[in-house]
Amino acid sequence: MDEKPPPLTPLDESWERALCVVAHPDDLEFGAAAAVARWTGQEKAITYCMVTSGEAGIDGMDPEQCREVREEEQRRSAAVVGVDAVEFLGQPDGVLEYGVPLREVIAAAVRRHRPEIVVTGNFRDTWGGANLNQADHIATGRAVLDAVRDAGNRWVFHDQVTGGLEPWGGVRAVWAFGSPESAHGVDTTETFDAGVLSLEAHRAYIDGLGWEDFDAREFLEGMARATGQRLGVAFAASFEVFPMGWGE
Ligand SMILES: [Zn+2]
Repeated sequence: MDEKPPPLTPLDESWERALCVVAHPDDLEFGAAAAVARWTGQEKAITYCMVTSGEAGIDGMDPEQCREVREEEQRRSAAVVGVDAVEFLGQPDGVLEYGVPLREVIAAAVRRHRPEIVVTGNFRDTWGGANLNQADHIATGRAVLDAVRDAGNRWVFHDQVTGGLEPWGGVRAVWAFGSPESAHGVDTTETFDAGVLSLEAHRAYIDGLGWEDFDAREFLEGMARATGQRLGVAFAASFEVFPMGWGE
């Protein structure tokens, strides 16, 4: 059988502004929302930036209608964990491509919000074991890493700078939640319930998945408890840390 997973190091929480960039509405709620609730409770400013509106996510619903439903669900889901700022970048759900155009729209978001920490989702090939990751997640996470560097270079996407956005090189790290390579964690014991409510706000999406009897609490609890054991607490969320400075 598997060896016991190694212990996690607590994340550095000495920062004030974070930008969360993920492919779809619901991505943050499947692993990071309880951590976000903890951070907003510490008076940190968090902005959500959705690369797509998840408009291709419900089989029985036309994408244009779906876009409205899912954007509204995401705004409510964010509000539950104390996040009022939710942006949608309008990129095409299901067919995101890693490349310069994707880096460009994410770099603009980084320049607009000037975060110290950027949170994204796991972009490894799997979630650990045999569960394959999804193409949009992989494209987004890789583009986030590069866009954070692009944002600091005034000569990259220079038309954003001439258009009034200042370069921003202040991102200290990118954190990818749920990565199978995670070596860090954050205690979500106190905010676990908010994370459950945040996932439950995606009602139309969850119903559309057609998973019989999906229970948000049970699902999140399984992950959070296993992660908590590695951090020495009841519940936790895991993150892979990518330092963005030099010489660290
Ligand atoms: Zn997703």
